[in-house]
Amino acid sequence: MRATLMYEAGDVRIEDVPDPAIVEPTDAILRVTRAGICGSDLWPYASLERRETGRPMGHEAIGVVEDVGAEVRNIKQGDLVVMPFAFSDGTCAFCREGLHTACVHGGFFDGYGISAAQAEAVRVPYADGTLFRLPVGEDDALTPSLLTLSDVMGTGHHAAVVARVAPGKRAAVVGDGAVGLCGVIAAKRLGAEQIIIMGRHPDRIALAREFGATDVVSERGEEAVERVRALTGGEGVHSVLEGVGHGASTETAVRIARPGGAVGRVGVPQETTIPAGEPAFYANVKIGGGPAPARAYIEELLPDILDGTIEPGKVFDRTVGLDGVPDGYRAMADRESIKVMIKP
Ligand SMILES: [Zn+2]
Repeated sequence: MRATLMYEAGDVRIEDVPDPAIVEPTDAILRVTRAGICGSDLWPYASLERRETGRPMGHEAIGVVEDVGAEVRNIKQGDLVVMPFAFSDGTCAFCREGLHTACVHGGFFDGYGISAAQAEAVRVPYADGTLFRLPVGEDDALTPSLLTLSDVMGTGHHAAVVARVAPGKRAAVVGDGAVGLCGVIAAKRLGAEQIIIMGRHPDRIALAREFGATDVVSERGEEAVERVRALTGGEGVHSVLEGVGHGASTETAVRIARPGGAVGRVGVPQETTIPAGEPAFYANVKIGGGPAPARAYIEELLPDILDGTIEPGKVFDRTVGLDGVPDGYRAMADRESIKVMIKP
């Protein structure tokens, strides 16, 4: 089959690789019908050191089940399913608590010897726990929105949940990438009264407003903190959704929180420490977050996609075949595209 491999920063290639096969009896093989390029794929695209063997890429997919192992019970050949970016058994203590990204048998797709999704097919461990059957056909008009359940919509929702967004509260979203934009959707869906988007790209700001953002802050650093305070009666926001992961964006996130407020961090951290620890302490700001249990949120978010209440698929502004994937990475890295969908 053909698959996406990254050899070093900026070097993405489409190559022939062996077809994935059932390894464990709990596996399934998907024929990928849609995949996504993720903002987190841009980190290795900017920094991966030269490797002899390419790193398989991709952790967001919708696909048709082609084969299942002997112990798979609920997922059947021919099912159209969404694949969250982490696999999970669905049965351990953490899965039962809804934190599938801490599954004792779980892990993340791509990059670590596990199969990856920017390809014609992908091997999925723990198919019964990981995959979610979709009640639509392969080319349904809702497909882009359904694909966001594999990562960005679940991740934006997780930021909102951790940041304790609730009806009547003020929220701010740091970052205008696909996750931040889905965070705006999530904040509105959970009832936030004021939603401040912090970003500076006109196309993304326009989409944020369409999704429910009420205010825009394009400044950075201290000026951004002052602008948010000015927009919130000097207090700051109850809930901050951090979808970038840089030290500077995290510091801004902590400092715009209202005393007693909460920060939900879902941007993959690029530094090992959390900045602004002292202001956070004196303002009693709660800081939490991590990899979203996207699998846990599908049941909650799917009905709103099916009835058109939310349309997170609008974050995809470009669709490519596998041959277009290397340029898709470039377009996202150059901020020419918000998010690229792949139709292998
Ligand atoms: Zn588990």
